[in-house]
Amino acid sequence: MSCKLCELKPVYKLENGVKLCKGCFISYFEDKVFKTIKRFNLFSHEDKLVVAVSGGKDSITVLYLTQKYLKKRNLEKNLTALAIDEGIKGYRKNTLDFLKNFCKEHEIKLHIHSYKKNYGKTLDAAIKTSQKKDMNVSPCNICGTYRRNALNTGARELGATKLVTGHNLDDEAQSILLNIFKNNFKILTRLGPNNGVVKDEMFIPRVKPLYLTSEKEVRLYTLIKEFDLGYDECPYAKGSFRGNLGSMINKLEDEHKGVKHSIVNFYLETQGALKEKYVEEFGSTVTYCSICGEPSQKKICNTCDFKKLLK
Ligand code: SF4
Ligand code: ZN
Ligand code: ZN
Repeated sequence: MSCKLCELKPVYKLENGVKLCKGCFISYFEDKVFKTIKRFNLFSHEDKLVVAVSGGKDSITVLYLTQKYLKKRNLEKNLTALAIDEGIKGYRKNTLDFLKNFCKEHEIKLHIHSYKKNYGKTLDAAIKTSQKKDMNVSPCNICGTYRRNALNTGARELGATKLVTGHNLDDEAQSILLNIFKNNFKILTRLGPNNGVVKDEMFIPRVKPLYLTSEKEVRLYTLIKEFDLGYDECPYAKGSFRGNLGSMINKLEDEHKGVKHSIVNFYLETQGALKEKYVEEFGSTVTYCSICGEPSQKKICNTCDFKKLLK
């Protein structure tokens, strides 16, 4: 059996059974990402884009394709990469070294911010403190809160109008179910390819060009493109709620093809109604943290809360 579009050996089977060779898969994948950018109006010619990069397959793919998309329009000067060094021993250094080389090779400006500089402690040290103080908080909880803050403030400092992230279809399906299972209506409302319910100049809107591409497709893309990823798994990832949910959805997807797309499509269909209800219930005005001045729904934001508790 050869590729559906040419005579070469197939390497990938689409959900509808169509088989593609390496070259045709690359065209299919890139076309899907560029169509996602257009369909959800993720970038405009005026946008200054900061891509959040970790050095993993998703962020390298989104960085590479954002640059490719901008190059076609002579807009590549509008692109900067931003990495966050959490301070996780034996994990982050390799990916940062890889990132530096990748950005140098592709002539992309790279900025690196760190939890240690921003919040006074590496993630490893913050976790030790949380364990000593017997705080009921997971590493990913601290890390996620710090990362959201570091990316938003970092992108704003770089003059970004959009923060581009490498979230793929699998991440989004997990986020949707995770927030349903946790009954977290507010966060659920803020998902989607072009998120942000409330507009405020302190918030840099996040956009997700890989929104409709699965993790499997991204992995195959990086393999065929021979991006030499220096990627290890974060030592804190095992046993997290999101990790368990990911395994559960993958199992379902194996037995019932299309489950991930169905979850995301259902969300896209209902997101408008959710947003309306959100604004009605919580209002559209933004309040600010009394310590750092960042947008926050509480008097003191979660980042400042953690900073204080983890001293
Ligand atoms: Fe941070 Fe958790 Fe991701 Fe590790 S797995 S980088 S601790 S959010
Ligand atoms: Zn082909
Ligand atoms: Zn604050």
